Amino acid sequence: MALSKEENDLSTCSFANTTNQPVECPFGFGRKATKSGWEQAISPLCCPLCRALLYQAQRAVPCGHCYCKVCCQRVKDCLLCAADVENYTSATEVDKDVESFIQAHSHNIDLLQEDEPGNIQTERETDFLQKRTTFLLFQALKAQNGGNYASALARLEQAQLELTGKTEQKYINQQAMILGKLSDVSCNQNELEKAAQYIEQACKLLEDSLLEKQEEFGDKEFSILSTTHGKAGDIYALLENHDLASSHYSRAIFMKEQLTSSENSASSNLQKALLLSKLAENLCSAAKKHASDAKSLVDSAGQCEASSLNDRDHNVIEYVKSTVASILRE
Ligand SMILES: [Zn+2]
Ligand SMILES: [Zn+2]
Repeated sequence: MALSKEENDLSTCSFANTTNQPVECPFGFGRKATKSGWEQAISPLCCPLCRALLYQAQRAVPCGHCYCKVCCQRVKDCLLCAADVENYTSATEVDKDVESFIQAHSHNIDLLQEDEPGNIQTERETDFLQKRTTFLLFQALKAQNGGNYASALARLEQAQLELTGKTEQKYINQQAMILGKLSDVSCNQNELEKAAQYIEQACKLLEDSLLEKQEEFGDKEFSILSTTHGKAGDIYALLENHDLASSHYSRAIFMKEQLTSSENSASSNLQKALLLSKLAENLCSAAKKHASDAKSLVDSAGQCEASSLNDRDHNVIEYVKSTVASILRE
């Protein structure tokens, strides 16, 4: 199904306004969109299965309805018209429409209007980066919920790329959230190493920023940092890297302790208790692993000729054996 010229011309954002009242676009774009108007307007660019913007669009033969490449593998009867789908052909022109749709919103209609000279323009442009990356994040969430992880990753990576190098704290927070989501989607795909890389990147970004501009850090930032370290802890625990898991959990607890607003509320105490018990669990596992590593080293040293070991060595062996025994017993 080809888009008509009118349907295609989404950049003006002039959706039907049934109420004659200015209604905010649900994604924060444009001022004339009603929610249903918006959805109707973008529906030809959305996948009927995952409901996100089409990604690597494929056109069903014979009916012509489009699905994402990942999604079309799950569609035998078209969800829109019930046609028996014989095969799919790639629809790169639709991908281009989707791209220009996303990009069109980087020139919000606010920006097209006459504006006072000075900083206002820049202010709106920078705000728009926040809106566009939030929009991409929404699309990624839809795709993730619809099981299209390739689409989710692509949208998130695009948002991440746009935010790279931005040093304002609000963009750093946004980037950390997007990296956190990239990490979630990688977990969904069972790619834990990749998930760990993304979440480490988020931790580093926030920690560097904390180091650089401590005075700008408030409850919001500490809360994001705590959540991010908590996620990192969970991923390393799954990877059975208990040392790294422990260090992230301790950092998550420390950041929680910096919060001033929710001090001592029941739910905040429970969140802290959860982090503390995860920390304790991973410290125990780490202790057992270190103890058994120490035991194998001592065992292999014990196999050397007795004459090659001095008194100090014998003391060490004794100390290690008794310590290790008590840890592994527990
Ligand atoms: Zn889809
Ligand atoms: Zn169809």
